[in-house]
Amino acid sequence: MIGEKDYDDVINFILPRYKLNEWIYPNVISRNCKLDKDTTATILNELVKTKCLNEYWLIRCPYCRKINTDRIYVHYESVPAWFICSHCDMKIKTDKNDFVDYAEPVYKLRKGVSLNKFRKEKKE
Ligand SMILES: [Zn+2]
Repeated sequence: MIGEKDYDDVINFILPRYKLNEWIYPNVISRNCKLDKDTTATILNELVKTKCLNEYWLIRCPYCRKINTDRIYVHYESVPAWFICSHCDMKIKTDKNDFVDYAEPVYKLRKGVSLNKFRKEKKE
């Protein structure tokens, strides 16, 4: 069960640290707010629903583990069925069900977010 305090902790961590254009990585939130991976994912998802964050998908090469920063997608459905890693030149091909292996969600803060705005949106 995720408590109100967990949401507050995440928002209070994000707000003073991130500018509008900076990428927010779930593992950084998870580590700093001392939350497990699933809880962090649920909270970030709720922050997208309440219009506090925008969600994007980036591709991390399963071979060299580097992020292909030239490939960032707004929709999970837009993640391609194959790509060539810009770091190690490996061709990575998979079927739709395996996308989660190399597509990771990242987030950006939206304008005018505050703890009060989040609480208000969450109630509605
Ligand atoms: Zn690679």
